[in-house]
Amino acid sequence: MNIQEANQYLTPNYARFPITLVKGQGTRVWDDTGKSYLDFVSGIAVNALGHAHPAMVKTISEQAATMLHCSNLYYHPQQNELAKKLVSLSGLDKAFFCNSGAEANEAAIKLARKYFHDQGVNKFSIITATQSFHGRTMQTIAATGQDKVKAGFAPLPQGFSHVPLNDWDALEAAIDDTTAAIMLEPLQGEGGVNLAAIEYLEAVRALCDAKGILLIFDEIQTGIGRCGSMFAFEKAGVKPDILTLAKGLGGGIPIGTMLATEKVAVSLSAGSHGTTFGGNPLSCAVALTVLDVIEQEDLLANVLARSTQIKAALQDLADEHDCFTAVKGDGLLLGLQANIEVSPIINACLDNGLMVLGAGPKVLRLLPALNISESEVSEGLDILNQSIKGLDL
Ligand SMILES: *Cc1c(COP(=O)(O)O)cnc(C)c1O
Repeated sequence: MNIQEANQYLTPNYARFPITLVKGQGTRVWDDTGKSYLDFVSGIAVNALGHAHPAMVKTISEQAATMLHCSNLYYHPQQNELAKKLVSLSGLDKAFFCNSGAEANEAAIKLARKYFHDQGVNKFSIITATQSFHGRTMQTIAATGQDKVKAGFAPLPQGFSHVPLNDWDALEAAIDDTTAAIMLEPLQGEGGVNLAAIEYLEAVRALCDAKGILLIFDEIQTGIGRCGSMFAFEKAGVKPDILTLAKGLGGGIPIGTMLATEKVAVSLSAGSHGTTFGGNPLSCAVALTVLDVIEQEDLLANVLARSTQIKAALQDLADEHDCFTAVKGDGLLLGLQANIEVSPIINACLDNGLMVLGAGPKVLRLLPALNISESEVSEGLDILNQSIKGLDL
């Protein structure tokens, strides 16, 4: 089926590239014409181990032959083990499983409200950052600090306000008696690869403690090794009360999770929340495999080394071209800030066999798999360089 025909059957909500992908292996993918691409997108930070990693193939086939689903009416070993593993990695106490990032944030928002409700306290509002991205459900577009995701969907759920990231005075001014939680991405992905300052996060934590406000970190994009530590919050040394994860956790199999402290998690009492598919044996078995491979293959060290390699090359580009103004991000969530639209660069890279993406119109974003090799990074950076040269920017 060609693209034109496909568009006859698909809702038009995605502005897709005119490419049909049919196969992936490691950091390389192929389209239906046989053309290959180096993948510096990883399905938007999802394919943490690249494509068709043998350990994932093994787990998926074994689990398919054992049990795919049994609902949350029963216990099963994969969910039990994954909860234990994530609790031990994060230092939080309890895990709830769902199927996507937006669902994990929905759970976090519901839990924050329920926690104060259970204490008979009238706190319900949540402060998030301008340029944040928290998902596409009604609650999570209300939480998202970007107007473009909200247009046309009014009336939106109430109780959200937004302040610029790293702006302390704005945050203090936004807090009132109804504030239940502050929800932040330690490094904004979709909103432009914007890093929260460590001092800011420390101050936010102290403020939350002083005022009895919950701190929620949305690590759906930054978590699971993406920033060179298992979670970005470890680098800042600031622990949230609620943590949400998704994207890289399943390495391509849909899974999301919300982790919370014991004190907060008790409010997610029996019957208060749930999902049919969430935490099924397949997704949990695969997530356990992703976490195992990150440890066995020492991928956090690789993330840091490849990050240094890419940052140096991006800095060279920024030094060479006036249109690039800054290198942004951390680990393998990196951005090149431009003062022009980056879509021609993305298209030129695609023509030349490299997949990169944007983070807003003027930031070029790179999200390679955590296990990308040094030579694949060099090859990708060469293509990026050639593509930029060819555009004569
Ligand atoms: C991708 C993303 C989400 C939404 O995840 P979905 O799986 O698309 O629902 C939420 N928060 C952040 C930070 C993300 O990057």
